[in-house]
Amino acid sequence: MIKRLLKRLSTTSKTPKQGMATKKAPKRIDPTVIQQDSHGICESDISQSALKVMNRLNQGGFEGYLVGGGVRDLLLNASPKDFDVATDATPEQVKQLFRNSRIIGRRFRIVHVRFGREIIEVTTFRGQNSDSNQQIESDTGQLLRDNVYGDLESDALRRDFTANALYYSAKDQCIYDYTNGIEDLNNRQLTMIGDPVTRYKEDPVRLLRAIRFSAKLGFNIEANTQAPIHEQAHLLSHVPPARLFEEILKLFLSGYATATYELLRQYGLLDELFPESARVLDNHFSYAPLIDEMITNTDKRIRTNKRVTPAFVYAALMWPAMHDEFLKLRESGVSEVDAFGQASQRAISLQLQRIMIPKRFLVPMRQIWELQWRLPKRQGKRAQRLLDHPKFRAGYDFLLMREAAGEQLDELGSWWNQYQFADEEAREKMVNELAPMPNKKRRRRKPKNKANAQNHHE
Ligand code: ATP
Ligand code: MG
Repeated sequence: MIKRLLKRLSTTSKTPKQGMATKKAPKRIDPTVIQQDSHGICESDISQSALKVMNRLNQGGFEGYLVGGGVRDLLLNASPKDFDVATDATPEQVKQLFRNSRIIGRRFRIVHVRFGREIIEVTTFRGQNSDSNQQIESDTGQLLRDNVYGDLESDALRRDFTANALYYSAKDQCIYDYTNGIEDLNNRQLTMIGDPVTRYKEDPVRLLRAIRFSAKLGFNIEANTQAPIHEQAHLLSHVPPARLFEEILKLFLSGYATATYELLRQYGLLDELFPESARVLDNHFSYAPLIDEMITNTDKRIRTNKRVTPAFVYAALMWPAMHDEFLKLRESGVSEVDAFGQASQRAISLQLQRIMIPKRFLVPMRQIWELQWRLPKRQGKRAQRLLDHPKFRAGYDFLLMREAAGEQLDELGSWWNQYQFADEEAREKMVNELAPMPNKKRRRRKPKNKANAQNHHE
């Protein structure tokens, strides 16, 4: 009996172990290691600050790798926008090593290490899915919190695209590749790590990242990575509006707005980001040239180091929604000023349900729109007043853009161009030559109260 009992005990105690082993022991992957003489990245290509961070981590007994856009862009001979470091040190341990650092984020806790104006983002290796309460999923599979830590390999598998998952070690100057990223990079291909649908569900912003990198790097999107984009576009409605605002800036203000916009339209993502404008654009082809003008101008300005403001970009992207409504209201007999007010209010409040646009951009955006119906009204002292308007320049530029996009505005742009450079006398002449303002219908005002009425009769 004792023998039997012992036997039973030994089999029952074995079962869970076996179960665990077959259930989820991820296969270890041997990374491809690329030596310095084959990949060609030199220390001098890398930001001094990023090198400092990696060296200090190493001295502290931790691992530290350059990863993400920094490695990717250097391999493509482009200059990286920023340098990210991945480590096995926890955020608290990183913070202890660097006085000039702070922990940020909730969904992902990361450490920002500051060197003057440069910030090195240090992230702790992510782990694979687990039941831990540090990883919280919504009912659509979205990861609301993801602070499970892991090792280099699991970190590689949690990144988005293979080209973004290449690790450079300052210790041995080698690149470590767990996902065939080098091959995709050489083939100029963007490939999602893991099952694309699951990865889009975990974080729908990856849909936008696929478009952004494809446009910026000129990479094609690998077939399985590309296939679900259109169908999963609706997931974007689960992304917090504040995060979408950040992503929109990256999409339109990184110098690749033209290619990006085309892809956003193609994959049905614009319909999720700017639903009202996308609907109007689908039905009225006349609005498309304005957006085309805006994105070409924006890219050109960035190439020539000119300032671009999100207010202008938003003014154009939301113009179809606002203007279409404005025209409808005018047709139904609403006055110009009221139609403008109502149409802008509606366009803005609908848009804010999707994307959080901060007031500092919303206010000038509205002013740019407002100037569109005020700029034709130049009679009397109005022209001078408009010229002194703080947003005159942006409003005027927007007007020129509308004309360049084919709107017939009675040579308004060239009138304003001439007016700006004319002397006082010439300005007065220009205004006097204008046709007088169309007479408003005179409405007899009803006296407001008795006192008024009496005065009136006296
Ligand atoms: P950029 O040139 O725009 O900086 P990047 O690839 O460095 O491109 P970042 O947003 O700086 O992009 O992110 C750094 C790295 O973090 C990425 O390369 C990727 O490995 C990882 N990463 C960022 N966002 C995600 C995400 N949503 N899902 C998975 N991995 C991500
Ligand atoms: Mg980066």
